[in-house]
Amino acid sequence: MAENEQTKVCPKCGKQLQEGYIPDRFYANFQVWVSGQPEKRFLGGGLDLDGKTTLNITTFRCQTCAYLESYAKG
Ligand SMILES: [Zn+2]
Repeated sequence: MAENEQTKVCPKCGKQLQEGYIPDRFYANFQVWVSGQPEKRFLGGGLDLDGKTTLNITTFRCQTCAYLESYAKG
């Protein structure tokens, strides 16, 4: 499950970052950040990305200054 369970720290203020993600779907006409890990749900057929490598993007949020930092984990 959690391969690299290391605490990430905010580069701006040095406080702890909380794991989350930005869902690729519309809740409203603006992007949202959601805490925790996304449910892996693939809509039938999947994407044709011509064999390109695809990675899930995890976006960490600073609980103090609200800075967002994204990682594309392999
Ligand atoms: Zn911060």
